Amino acid sequence: MKFTALKAIGFLLVSALIALPSWTFAKDNNDSNSNENAAETHVQWSYQGKTGPEYWALLSDEFNTCHAGKNQSPINISTAVPAKLKGIRFEYNMLVPENMVNNGHTIQVNIRSGGKITIDDKAFFLKQIHFHTPSEHRIDGTSYPLEAHFVHVSKDNEIAVVALLYRPGPVNTALDPLLKVMPFNVGETTRPGVRDLELFERDKVVKNYFRYSGSLTTPPCTEGVRWIVLQTRSNVNRQQLEAFQYALKHPNNRPLQPLNGRVVVKKIPSAR
Ligand SMILES: [Zn+2]
Repeated sequence: MKFTALKAIGFLLVSALIALPSWTFAKDNNDSNSNENAAETHVQWSYQGKTGPEYWALLSDEFNTCHAGKNQSPINISTAVPAKLKGIRFEYNMLVPENMVNNGHTIQVNIRSGGKITIDDKAFFLKQIHFHTPSEHRIDGTSYPLEAHFVHVSKDNEIAVVALLYRPGPVNTALDPLLKVMPFNVGETTRPGVRDLELFERDKVVKNYFRYSGSLTTPPCTEGVRWIVLQTRSNVNRQQLEAFQYALKHPNNRPLQPLNGRVVVKKIPSAR
């Protein structure tokens, strides 16, 4: 969509007026759906043109951090400092999906229950899994065709996101069941079954990861997010990737953000 400046301003004013009541509503009812994209403010934003990433902060006061923030995501991970980090305990024991939504920004599986990770002796509960293509994070400058974000929220509403990068390769059997219920149209919702998430289940301590402090990669770009980028990459084949691309209609990766002196750490291999 192309807007002239005047049209865009008019559009934003109207959007803001329409958005007010529903924002209040969304805030009150966000508990089961707190997520990286929970910014369901109903202010129109996108990945291209005049509502694209470089304009996010102008679209709403709520999005100010997208421009003013100094700890933004995603980033390129080129140097990571070894540190005495504990492994992260994954307890994805019986993932129960709520639904799978194509919200125009991403494809998202909302999770009702069954997923927990422990970081810094603190429990974070899996709320949703969503996808970006191409990847948002890069490692040593390398972009990947697909990135999954596992968004977790603690009881006191802190956010921890685990990023899994997919490289081109053979068919990914964990993704296949989800692709069978892929909502291909924007606004469409489907209902995956419990068995469709079985291959995402794991009960183990993950030791190979990068960690840094960042933000949501979508408006309102809220900071204070614990980012865990897994060093082990998964794989996705061409047909699977095309299914995501077809459903999303456009790339949905926010551009890389400056580190601004932040340090990315990785676990010393020998540390427990
Ligand atoms: Zn994301």
